[in-house]
Amino acid sequence: MSVNTSLFKKYALILSSLIGLTLLLSGVLNISYAYRESQQVLVALQREKAEAAAARIGQYLFDIERRVGVTGISTNDSVALDKRVAEIQLLRRTVAINEIFLLDPQGREILRVARHAPDIVQSGRDFSDTDYFQRAKSGRHYRSPVYSRDSGLFMMIAMAVGASAAGITVVEIDLEFLLDGISQIKAGSNGHAYAVDQNGRLIAHPDIGLVMRNTSLAQLPQIQSALHLTPPEDQEPIHAHNLKGEDVLTAFGAIHQLGWFVFIEEPLSEAYRPLYAQVSRSALLLLIGMLLALAASVALVRRMTQPILAIQEGATLIGQGALDHRISVTTGDELEDLADSFNRMAAQLQESYASLEKKVEDRTRDLAELNSKLELLSTTDALTGIANRRKFDEVLVQEWSRATRTGQPLALAILDIDWFKAYNDHYGHQAGDGCLQRVAQIISDSVCRGTDLVARYGGEEFVFIAPGTNAETVLKLAERLCEEFRAIALPHEHSKYGFVTVSIGVTSIIPNQEQNPASLIQTADQAMYRAKELGRNRAVLV
Ligand code: GH3
Ligand code: MG
Ligand code: MG
Repeated sequence: MSVNTSLFKKYALILSSLIGLTLLLSGVLNISYAYRESQQVLVALQREKAEAAAARIGQYLFDIERRVGVTGISTNDSVALDKRVAEIQLLRRTVAINEIFLLDPQGREILRVARHAPDIVQSGRDFSDTDYFQRAKSGRHYRSPVYSRDSGLFMMIAMAVGASAAGITVVEIDLEFLLDGISQIKAGSNGHAYAVDQNGRLIAHPDIGLVMRNTSLAQLPQIQSALHLTPPEDQEPIHAHNLKGEDVLTAFGAIHQLGWFVFIEEPLSEAYRPLYAQVSRSALLLLIGMLLALAASVALVRRMTQPILAIQEGATLIGQGALDHRISVTTGDELEDLADSFNRMAAQLQESYASLEKKVEDRTRDLAELNSKLELLSTTDALTGIANRRKFDEVLVQEWSRATRTGQPLALAILDIDWFKAYNDHYGHQAGDGCLQRVAQIISDSVCRGTDLVARYGGEEFVFIAPGTNAETVLKLAERLCEEFRAIALPHEHSKYGFVTVSIGVTSIIPNQEQNPASLIQTADQAMYRAKELGRNRAVLV
């Protein structure tokens, strides 16, 4: 049993760990790839959003600059002035533009159109020593750093218009409008977008207070890496901390003309929530798959080991001698062949045992027959065919104890052929043997009760035992026997009677504890010698 249990355990362990490990490996790989892909999609989306916002602002700025580029005016072109004023007023309506003014090539103000002030024409104010005039005049496109004034953030653009003689156009842009879209951007439900300038200063944020407090984010690593233009590996997520120290997933897009950046950040826990949900769903499916695989492998191994168990139990039973046991395996494979082999072996053994048992039975019967023959031979006198001395001794002891038990008398007679030596001498030894056979016959015929026993006592002496016979009856029996000899009259030349006679000594006693069978024989023997003395051919009772 333990063998099969360990076989079951072994195969179940191997199979389930094989399937389990394969499933686990492929599951973990799948989950990690799916995680990575989803993460990349997430990062790409966030980056696209940031870059789109940055591009929109860049485009907006580019549009403004393009339109500013065609607004130049010449001081000596008085006809065109009215037309230009109209153009600039139109341009000023661009939401982001706070103020536009035109300077002549010497830096004197020709025209100023402001959002909240009346237009000023030909004020002649000298701006020739300003930084923006100098730079724009030298042909460079000037963009000022961000500066705050009143309750807003602004920047200035100055550009030479057309030929250098045509003058300089200066535009003040209200960042609140330029960057308006940024605070509208949503990332998930708690994420948001913000923008920083080339120094890391916050210039747009849903929390306008932060912007107005001139908050600098330059110390944040993600800002640092953006400012130093070390963009992360493509699709690589940036995990960072925001100003509040929260973990965020962040991405940025650059507004290249200005060196500004639009950042989008979303709390990490929120950003990855769908990812984690996906991972836990996949892990749950993997777990269910593994449990199913485990159950399937246990069932499979049980199916595999059951026939082996049946064969093992069957072989044990057959080995213990239950040869009629048959193993039932119907797997249709080598195991079924093995079970069939065991069954054939058991059938052959059964057959062999059956024929062996029959042989043993026959031999036993033969032996019993032989034994009874032997028993008969060992208790039979070879010459006369009646019981021998050995049989007589046995029966005497049996009858003695029976008579002792029952209190019945037990009679014994000893017969001796008279002058038999002379018979032998006269007729020859062979004739003597024949005579002995005839005498045995005569005695047997006369003493014919079933309980009586006639035996050859030795030489030409015979005995008979007559259970339940008293002295008187046995004496009569002996005398009748003598009569019988006389009637048959076997010739005996050297007998004084002329025929074969016997002298018989008889006795009968009720045995008790003081006597024994030998004393009975002795008494009968004495009686027989008495018969000899009295002249032979007679019966004497003692
Ligand atoms: P008694 O009347 O006194 O008995 O005289 P007896 O001649 O019979 O005397 P005894 O008993 O001494 O002699 C017995 C003889 O019986 C001796 C032996 O030759 C003979 N005898 C004994 N056994 C056999 C036998 O098996 N075959 C033959 N032929 N003779 C035997
Ligand atoms: Mg004798
Ligand atoms: Mg004799």
